[in-house]
Amino acid sequence: MIVMKFGGTSVGSAKNIRAVADIIEKKDGRKIIVVSAMAGITDSLSKIAHRIIDLPNSVIKKEANQFIKEIKEKHTSTAKELIQDKRVLMESISKIEELSGKLETVLLGVGYLEDLSPKSMDYILSFGERFSITIISSVLESKDLKAKALTGYEAGIVTDSNFGRAHPIHSILARNIREKINPLLEDDVIPVISGFIAANSDGTITTLGRGGSDYTASLLGRYLKASEVQIWTDVDGILTTDPKIVPEARLIPTLSYIEAVDLAYFGAKVIHSKMIEPAMDVNIPVRIKSTFNPEGRGTLIVSKQEKIEHVIKAVTAQQDVGIVNLKGVGMIETPNISGKLFSLLGGKNINILMISGSSESNLSFVIKKSFIDEAVETISTGFGDNSIRSLEVVEDICIITVVGVGMQGAKGLAAKVFQAVADVDVNIIMIAQGSSEVNISFIVNEGDREKVVKTLHKRFIEDVG
Ligand code: ADP
Ligand code: ASP
Ligand code: MG
Repeated sequence: MIVMKFGGTSVGSAKNIRAVADIIEKKDGRKIIVVSAMAGITDSLSKIAHRIIDLPNSVIKKEANQFIKEIKEKHTSTAKELIQDKRVLMESISKIEELSGKLETVLLGVGYLEDLSPKSMDYILSFGERFSITIISSVLESKDLKAKALTGYEAGIVTDSNFGRAHPIHSILARNIREKINPLLEDDVIPVISGFIAANSDGTITTLGRGGSDYTASLLGRYLKASEVQIWTDVDGILTTDPKIVPEARLIPTLSYIEAVDLAYFGAKVIHSKMIEPAMDVNIPVRIKSTFNPEGRGTLIVSKQEKIEHVIKAVTAQQDVGIVNLKGVGMIETPNISGKLFSLLGGKNINILMISGSSESNLSFVIKKSFIDEAVETISTGFGDNSIRSLEVVEDICIITVVGVGMQGAKGLAAKVFQAVADVDVNIIMIAQGSSEVNISFIVNEGDREKVVKTLHKRFIEDVG
């Protein structure tokens, strides 16, 4: 049995969904399908939610109506273009209408109450995937395949109540997923499951974090003991860097789990940062392929670490991050300052991406921009005034990372990387090397991001041959 996940672009238009349905149809054996929302839908849901709470009461209804009209039209017209079978089409359209009605109600509620809690936000964001599972399962049915649309929760994915970035409760998943999915597979039904969304144990909708459909796929793969998890996307596989920055980026045919984790963690958006772990836990291969080039070999991620001629296999950039600098003489007298920092921020589920302490009285760390306000508040209250003299935030920066298992023990490589950055006159603001030794990460100004990625890609990948 395999898990096949199709991302936003892959299901972003009637034409693309047709290609997806063909790929599914051609694949023999048991399969589970995971889908994202149609491209742009999750963003548009997030935008309208933020917009509607700022609108005067007099226009809320009109704006919500207009939005619902457009989103309903987009999904209905896609369904009409794809589904020939009249009965299946009518069922799909009535589901789209039902979902649109629910979405309108929640938008009005949020708008009038001017209260967009993380819980309401997750509920609103969930609609993108709920629309897409309806359409895609119906398209499969109209091809005479047996299919059933399921939300992540209906497929057995239960999380804590950390809305916006909920964590799966593994002990429940281990039991639930098999119970819900195996009977369908035994009946030769193809489950079409919404990525990204799940629910807490009360059944309230949660999300796994943006881009989280990949994570849904690997969780399902892990608990159903799939023979492979396939991520079908809009590029040929994992490339040596983001092709949107460097068109010369090349396909990486194989990668180890540990390299893939670092790549995803430091910004290679092609896979979600948490998706490798469940597959790695039980040694399931992960394959990244293009929906638009299904014959291509794609990238295979397995446990084996392969050293190749290119010591540096890939270059990534992580945007939307900020540095928090802590300075204070009092810090010298506070033992285990970084331990306390980790536990304070960990308590708030704020993940530290990089940390560096140049002296006992100085500590800098990097986190996602969206966490900065919460982090500053947590530290100020958690440490008290006397241990920290100043707390400074630096934004408009990004993390650049080079990854490759060949870097383990490669002497002088960091120096070469930093020299290449200096050669194009870019200042390095902060440096850190992960304990895995398969990556080197450093911070530069956001304005230098493209220049640095291009330079490193040219010097350490293109020029190596
Ligand atoms: P999906 O909607 O299928 O989940 P995403 O947009 O999340 O797709 O991820 C695919 C995108 O990731 C590509 O279009 C590409 O621009 C970007 N990307 C960033 N870094 C890499 C990389 N190293 N290799 C491939 N794609 C990358
Ligand atoms: N639709 C969600 C998002 O845009 C999840 C995903 O595509 O993986 O973040
Ligand atoms: Mg994605």
